[in-house]
Amino acid sequence: MPIRKDDTPPNRRFGLVNLLLIGFGVLLLVSSFLPNQGMQQVPRVPYSLFVSQVDDGNVRRAYITQEQIRYELKSPPEDDAPSVLATTPIFDMDLPKRLEEHGVEFAAAPPQKPSFITTALSWIVPPLIFILVLQFFARRSMGGAQGALSFTKSKAKVYVPDEESRITFADVAGVDEAKQELTEIVDFLKSSERYTAIGARIPKGVLLVGPPGTGKTLLSKAVAGEAGVPFFIISGSEFVELFVGAGAARVRDLFEEAKKKAPCIIFIDELDAIGKSRAGSMGVVGGNDEREQTLNQLLTEMDGFAAKDKPVIVLAATNQPETLDAALLRPGRFDRQVLVDRPDLSGRKTILDIYARKVKLAPGVDLDRIAQATSGFAGADLANLVNEGALLAARAKRTCVEQGDLNEAIERVVAGLEKKSRVLQADEKKVVAYHEVGHAIVGHLMPGGSKVAKISIVPRGMAALGYTLQLPTEERFLNSKEDLEGQIATLLGGRSAEEIVFGAVTTGAANDLQRATDIAEQMVGTYGMSDILGPLAYDKQGGSRFLGGANNPRRSVSDATAQAIDKEVRTLVDRAHDRALSILRHNRELMESISQQILEKEVIEGDDLKDLLASSVMPEDAQAIA
Ligand code: ADP
Ligand code: MG
Ligand code: ZN
Repeated sequence: MPIRKDDTPPNRRFGLVNLLLIGFGVLLLVSSFLPNQGMQQVPRVPYSLFVSQVDDGNVRRAYITQEQIRYELKSPPEDDAPSVLATTPIFDMDLPKRLEEHGVEFAAAPPQKPSFITTALSWIVPPLIFILVLQFFARRSMGGAQGALSFTKSKAKVYVPDEESRITFADVAGVDEAKQELTEIVDFLKSSERYTAIGARIPKGVLLVGPPGTGKTLLSKAVAGEAGVPFFIISGSEFVELFVGAGAARVRDLFEEAKKKAPCIIFIDELDAIGKSRAGSMGVVGGNDEREQTLNQLLTEMDGFAAKDKPVIVLAATNQPETLDAALLRPGRFDRQVLVDRPDLSGRKTILDIYARKVKLAPGVDLDRIAQATSGFAGADLANLVNEGALLAARAKRTCVEQGDLNEAIERVVAGLEKKSRVLQADEKKVVAYHEVGHAIVGHLMPGGSKVAKISIVPRGMAALGYTLQLPTEERFLNSKEDLEGQIATLLGGRSAEEIVFGAVTTGAANDLQRATDIAEQMVGTYGMSDILGPLAYDKQGGSRFLGGANNPRRSVSDATAQAIDKEVRTLVDRAHDRALSILRHNRELMESISQQILEKEVIEGDDLKDLLASSVMPEDAQAIA
């Protein structure tokens, strides 16, 4: 879609400032030519002469100011000499007395008031300089497009969908439920009369909620494209600036512009930047006024549409719905919430299809297998994957993308780019090898829907020194207690192998332990899988299930229960650890032989790995405890 910057001519805004400037320049000039009032040239004489003339009784009257004493003589010494003279006053307390004694009529002037022009200039010039400086910086930072007085302009970009480049629902895949809900919105925009005729209230706000990269921005563009209406796009963070009040003014401006172009869509990306709960942010020192004002303005504007107006629908996206202010979610505001979740197996397949069409694919490439191996990928990851595959193929000077390219691309997306330069010491490599083989053997023997597909000790990305890739054999939405226990044991397999072989543990298992503990905690706290604690959910679900339950505060429980939970989590992990140890001790020889092989080849996968793992045996004491 073509981007158009907002098109108010910037010149109009500068006009005023320049006019003011010129005006004051002229004033300054004029004032410097004006004679100082009441300062006609009078001959100056020494003070001593003035005093002696007073003493001689020759002075008729005197006019005393701070700068000079002007006096008139009764009779000038010569006929053509001036009768009015001036002198510079000195500090002389006796002067009034002396003047009085000799019968001089005298008056003093009040301290001189600053002239009108001086006052005006001192009030207007400093702010003017300030504005000019601001303007200078603003112009520089905005590339000259907008000026100082446009801080309150919304920076929204307007997309006007045109025929060839517009995005439609066909460009978005794998989020069918969200698409369905948004189809309704498209209908509102296209034929609002039909709804208003019956008296139905068209929703004003729709909140797209979901993890990053799942296509929220894309979906909202598709809504605009389907409805064929203008689309204002702005990020929540762009409202919030240095100046308190700028955000609110921008919101006002944005809605004004939008109303002119209605029916249209306003899309506020990253709504959480302005919509964070006000209650939650109390106690933060200062700095929240701005966001709060912006939020209030947004609420006001959303309440402000009248039903008879042409619809302006506000779409917003966030990946932290639980932090949003409750006021935003009330009816008449963002009362519709659309979940845009990570795609499932068939969703991933359709997304891959979309992007595979854009590259040259070798015949026989099986996208189903790629979709299977990418559980948990969001749409953006899949788009990235296909592109990585194409890059790999091009680098290898192939003319089309092959299955292997896509497979390698998966690993790249998963674990970051291959770091060939990172060299492990020989002894480190050995630890990593046993560690990964430990994962693989335990993982192979554990129940659950995944099979070990690859072991690698080639360092990747920032953190992973080696990895064991487990592929699910089928898409699973439900995990049994046994599955989860198996996952914990598998995660602990790495560390257990280190314990058995080297009698010591390294830091390499930190991430494994983290994940194992998380699973155990969820089993007890969320899934009610503990026999002792029963089917109670001790964790509070904050509506953030797709965010990995990052902040699940515990329900308020008694101390005894809290202790019991901790103990139960501990028991789960300990038991899994024992099972992993038992399995690996039982398969010690197998572990040795696979580790030797992997130290030679660095990577074992496919049928080789399958054959090797096939000879592993499950010891009796490591069976699942029913
Ligand atoms: P979000 O706004 O949810 O963080 P985006 O909409 O910005 O994600 O997605 C980034 C890119 O990833 C899109 O431009 C698109 O290329 C791709 N993408 C993400 N989700 C999908 C999807 N469901 N279908 C097709 N492409 C997608
Ligand atoms: Mg986005
Ligand atoms: Zn590990």
